[in-house]
Amino acid sequence: MALDDTLLPALLDAGLLAETGVRGVYGRSARFEDVLQRFDAYATRELAVEEAELIRFPPVLPRSTIERSGYLKSFPHLAGTVFSYGGDERGHADMLAKVAAGDDWSASQTMTDVVLVPAACYPVYPYVAGGGALPPGGRTIDVASYCFRHEPSDDPARMQSFRMHEHVRIGAPADVEEWQRVWIARGLEILGRLGLAAESAPANDPFFGRGGRMLAANQRAAELKFELLAPIAQSGEGTAIMSVNYHQDHFGSVYDIRTADGEVAHSACLGFGLERVTLALLVRHGLDPDRWPGDVRHELWGEDR
Ligand code: AMP
Ligand code: ZN
Repeated sequence: MALDDTLLPALLDAGLLAETGVRGVYGRSARFEDVLQRFDAYATRELAVEEAELIRFPPVLPRSTIERSGYLKSFPHLAGTVFSYGGDERGHADMLAKVAAGDDWSASQTMTDVVLVPAACYPVYPYVAGGGALPPGGRTIDVASYCFRHEPSDDPARMQSFRMHEHVRIGAPADVEEWQRVWIARGLEILGRLGLAAESAPANDPFFGRGGRMLAANQRAAELKFELLAPIAQSGEGTAIMSVNYHQDHFGSVYDIRTADGEVAHSACLGFGLERVTLALLVRHGLDPDRWPGDVRHELWGEDR
């Protein structure tokens, strides 16, 4: 199982995902959602050693945040911007006529103050900046959100809307670098216990354009991004189910986040892709979680079968 072109139909047939008519946008069934929530609870238990500060932001972000963060420079092709109608009644009738005729009605809409969150950690940096200088030892923040990326695909692992559970570490460069190293190893162990023989590999983000190729090469060479890969699609290299990213001073500089010593703070984040982990588990152990190995069920459901 698990060829690119057979996995999605298998997931739909098994009633795990439901089609919406748009590629990469699915409904999640009770069975799919149960696995996802159980994994998230398991990951939450494993992450608890960090005693991170939990905060939840909605899946929209102030437009100013994405403008300032550099996201539009690097990933204009992935960003999603929220538009709405701000006109009068005549303009409204005009818009409805276009909708009814199947014409382009985008000119009837104007940009709002919000964009869709591209990664759960984006709201964290301005939030931490607002808290003043960091305490000695820095801060660790727990965030989770639905994220949007405009990358329509028939690969069920490449969704347009999916959930990420992240921890974000912000502090002195040496602390953050060490944290990245530790969590790559812990991530492998956490996933390994579920039978996901994940491997870690230096990776790069899908930066846009010609300049992006250089950014990607630099990111890889400096080992700033690691992906923990598991087989979801049989073709290809394995799919990233967790990422550990080291941003160096990028967000610290943009938002003027300072360590207790007054240095520009460094940051890193680790993120589990919750749908992708769920898919990796389904591919590894079969589409019926009731029949998964006892040790995996034990880790996730706290029960033996
Ligand atoms: P990234 O910010 O690109 O490092 O993504 C963090 C994690 O989110 C990845 O390790 C994946 O598990 C997950 N992820 C990224 N893109 C997608 C996508 N299009 N669909 C589902 N999960 C994704
Ligand atoms: Zn992040």
